[in-house]
Amino acid sequence: MDLNLLRSTLEELGQPRFRFDQVWKWTAEGAQGYHEMSNLPASLRAQLEERVPFSTLTEVTRAEASDGTVKLLLNTKDGRPIETVLMRYKDGRRSICVSSQSGCPLTCTFCATGAMKFGRNLTAWEILDQALHLRRIDELDHCVFMGMGEPMMNLDNVLEVCRRLPDVGITHRRTGISTVGWVPGIDKLTESDVPVRLAWSLHSAEDALRSDIMPVNDRYSLQDVKAACDRFYEKRRKMIFVEYIMLGGVNDSVAQAKQLADLLEPWKYKINLIPYNPTDSVYDGSERGAMEAFRQTLEDEGFNATIRLIRGRDIDAACGQLAAKAAA
Ligand code: SF4
Repeated sequence: MDLNLLRSTLEELGQPRFRFDQVWKWTAEGAQGYHEMSNLPASLRAQLEERVPFSTLTEVTRAEASDGTVKLLLNTKDGRPIETVLMRYKDGRRSICVSSQSGCPLTCTFCATGAMKFGRNLTAWEILDQALHLRRIDELDHCVFMGMGEPMMNLDNVLEVCRRLPDVGITHRRTGISTVGWVPGIDKLTESDVPVRLAWSLHSAEDALRSDIMPVNDRYSLQDVKAACDRFYEKRRKMIFVEYIMLGGVNDSVAQAKQLADLLEPWKYKINLIPYNPTDSVYDGSERGAMEAFRQTLEDEGFNATIRLIRGRDIDAACGQLAAKAAA
């Protein structure tokens, strides 16, 4: 829902200010449409129906995996495809992974989104609507900006959404913005007033290999990004999550785990190893034994390192798989 449009429409209709809060409360709490907003006059509900679309997005398809993961393919008004995912865990967590761009200009070689044509930055309302579509399916408590696109290239809109997420049930402490290392965005987040978490998609601790798999590294080197993450830590004193996708025979040796340990400090960085989900790329996922040896090496060096649970692989909703089908 375009909340600016809602506000100006209510003003034009001469409605008192509290009407905006009423409509937003219903929407943030999972209402399926204006018709459910029982404390609004019926005539106002009808006017809103006509003048303020309940969502800026249209649901095109909905896929549900055997583990309860739900992936939505949504279209913007101008026909840009976006994917968004709800992951449901056995411990009760309900975590969403939202997109900040349609497609992505950064072309990481292992990523299905990177292979898709870049469309544009999403508006704040298009990002927020992904969360709201998922909120109509289930209650939510965690959010990562780790879907399609590089959130730091669209940070103002992402932060606008972060400010609204607590009303949807997701606190700042449970919100994470993930970046491949877009330094100006990291610095802007550090200076912002929104106390969310930072995640760095690192994937290789060697500049040459990192540039091969992530061309953005030619623009912002490991040391540049590390310095920006350190500035974030100095200011916020919040541990930074490092995401490391495990590509078989590429970045998963014990020697490479040691390089990673040399780059980072265990009290500042927590490391998530992500099993690679095969898309149409040239890479294979790492063997289970290689992942465990990598993790153990990091642990021996004093790091908190975990191997992430795979969610939604059977519907192409796992990490690195978004938009494989939408782009086809
Ligand atoms: S990994 Fe992220 S930054 Fe890289 S191409 Fe995919 S969406 Fe873009």
